[in-house]
Amino acid sequence: MERHIPGFPRIGVRRELKAALEARWRGELSPEGLAAAGRELRLRHWDIQRRAGLSLVAVGDFSFYDHVLDTALMLGAVPRRFADADPGAGPELAFRMARGDAARGVAAMEMTKWFDTNYHYIVPELEPGQRLGLASRALADDVRLALEHGHRPKAVLLGPVTFLALAKGVDGQDPWGRLDEVLDAYAALLGELDGLCPWIQVDEPVLCTDLSAQARAAFPRAYAALNGAVADSGLLLATYFGALGARGLELALASGCRGLHVDLVRGAQGLPALLDGLPGGMTLSAGVVDGRGIWRTDLRRAVGLLEDMARRIGPDRLMVASSCSLLHVPVDLEAETALDPEVRGWMAFATQKCAELGALGDLLEGRDRAGDLAASDQAVASRRQSPLTRDPQVRRRCAEVDEAMLRRARPYAERSVAQGWLDLPALPTTTIGSFPQTAEIRRQRRLLREGAVTGADYEAFLKEEIARVVRIQEELGLDVLVHGEAERNDMVEYFGQQLAGFRFTGNGWVQSYGSRCVKPPVICGDVSRPGPMTVSWITYAQSLTERPMKGMLTGPVTILCWSFVRDDLPRAEVCRQLALAVRDEVRDLEAAGVRIIQIDEAAFREGMPLAEAERGEYLRWAVECFRLATSGVDDATQIHSHMCYSSFNDILPAIAAMDADVISIESSRSGMELLQAFREFDYPNAVGPGIYDIHSPRVPPREEMVGLLRAALALIPASRLWVNPDCGLKTRAWPETVESLRNMVAAAQEVRAELEGRG
Ligand code: GLN
Ligand code: ZN
Repeated sequence: MERHIPGFPRIGVRRELKAALEARWRGELSPEGLAAAGRELRLRHWDIQRRAGLSLVAVGDFSFYDHVLDTALMLGAVPRRFADADPGAGPELAFRMARGDAARGVAAMEMTKWFDTNYHYIVPELEPGQRLGLASRALADDVRLALEHGHRPKAVLLGPVTFLALAKGVDGQDPWGRLDEVLDAYAALLGELDGLCPWIQVDEPVLCTDLSAQARAAFPRAYAALNGAVADSGLLLATYFGALGARGLELALASGCRGLHVDLVRGAQGLPALLDGLPGGMTLSAGVVDGRGIWRTDLRRAVGLLEDMARRIGPDRLMVASSCSLLHVPVDLEAETALDPEVRGWMAFATQKCAELGALGDLLEGRDRAGDLAASDQAVASRRQSPLTRDPQVRRRCAEVDEAMLRRARPYAERSVAQGWLDLPALPTTTIGSFPQTAEIRRQRRLLREGAVTGADYEAFLKEEIARVVRIQEELGLDVLVHGEAERNDMVEYFGQQLAGFRFTGNGWVQSYGSRCVKPPVICGDVSRPGPMTVSWITYAQSLTERPMKGMLTGPVTILCWSFVRDDLPRAEVCRQLALAVRDEVRDLEAAGVRIIQIDEAAFREGMPLAEAERGEYLRWAVECFRLATSGVDDATQIHSHMCYSSFNDILPAIAAMDADVISIESSRSGMELLQAFREFDYPNAVGPGIYDIHSPRVPPREEMVGLLRAALALIPASRLWVNPDCGLKTRAWPETVESLRNMVAAAQEVRAELEGRG
């Protein structure tokens, strides 16, 4: 029985790829040195797969920056602004495309989230007149490299339909208009690979989303062309991140591919329809090991599931696999020496997941892996019985949540009157929470970690920092101040560290984009809040000023989305526990005299399931959790929220249902395109559409922001409009921050004066 993974993490167990990339970008490593580092990682990762007992190793899953960008390069889709460079130039050109070319003033390509993961890909740009065609032979070379090292390779590539669905057309180019050229390039590529490897995996995760009409129309043509280009190798059509919907399933089954890979972790509900329709000649790759989570597989359960499938379709038509590429999990649990052994025993990273697949394959072939089964059983039992996973008090509180806890006492219109005591001017100015995280702040944090400064020293340093940002904000004339978040390394980890039910890995890095990695906290048990988390910082900040100080918390949905979440409890339930913990903090802040409290839900949009049919349910519990976290306060206390996703026009009704008194949202980058949504949907509460882009060091002139505010006023009444940047300022430097905010306050004053003149 074939055992394989759709992909392995690229970054390396010690983030070797990050080190090599950054050395290259600083000019300290040659292109040849970087190539060698990449090659070493690929060889090492193939070895891991083979040693784990996989029958195929994934080749082509590696990338120096991003695999979608590599696909664009392979097809010759290089935007004109980079085109003086040779498309065959490999990673150096990819870096210019991904990071921009500052020396020549060329802007980077856009980056966005890869489906519902926290991995970001570079959005391919298709322009009229761009000549597309197979421009790189790197994949076939890599397959040969794997063969030379005695591996049985499976080539992995991004499929043409997903590529075109993710690409954007510029200058009027419709991406789908380039289908034929793209297919010719794929056919040329497949021609090179044919016969070199038994399987060629073609990734089409777009099949698990609600397909556009163009994608649906393109699919049969695409797969007729692709299948026509191979004679010896079999195409394995890979889908993941959800179940195939009715349309996706129909297309996949009729694709003519020799194999179909499905995600049976996130898409288990699709299995019956799939088994009913699977054509006789098609092999099924069953993704039973979770490629997105860090938990061990219940091997006994998985064997049962696989045996059922084998009985149905015959064992020779079954492959066993992880649900998706292991790109989304850390490399090796062996590196976690400091982790609490109980929780560590429940976990599996990429290397361990490969071993699970090896064991599953053996078990299905009737080989003796009793030891592995027993170890898996023991992990399952240990977890089930652990007091960590079940806190009766938390369970009771969750069960007792009632309707009244999900609602403020009065509707927004009345609350806004009750909040009049805050005595804010029209168009109040504020920021999103963080101020620049300077080198000095990071240094002090490091010194504390290393024991070089005492906790008291560190606290004194932070207090000084808070006093400084309060003074600066007063001088700038901002209306609602913040404490600046200097004490936070990260908006999720900071809270996780103060909550029960969390653990932290030492080395659990996952690629976010390019060389950037994140280390998500692990929610392994029932969550509760042993004590106040932010109250002392915020009340200290409030004590320094007469102006209102905004308390700053991360919301339950965002904590959930940016953590590795336990899989033995529904996500909605974990989120409810988080919501109760945040609710306690909100109430403590209020009791301490903090009467404006912002609960950030930066990840609210990205938590949405890919399939339309599942979104309603997600939005229902996500909104409910936000309301649970925020509704425990008096109507005269003002609740803010912040979201930084630019396209949430489609969920504006859900955002309204969150019923925050004030929301701030990202919008300046898209030239306030977002405001369009407010034309279509009458948002009832107050809103601060970000009027300057904090993602760039550029200082927006006052007149520009005046223009944006006037545009916003055409759609949002002055009584409900706030003035703020579009996100936190932690990545900015101080000089541009102060200048930008000065212009922003001046813009608000100018528009306020216009309003008074009119009124
Ligand atoms: N309050 C956070 C900050 O200002 C919000 C960050 C975010 O939205 N990603 O940094
Ligand atoms: Zn933001």
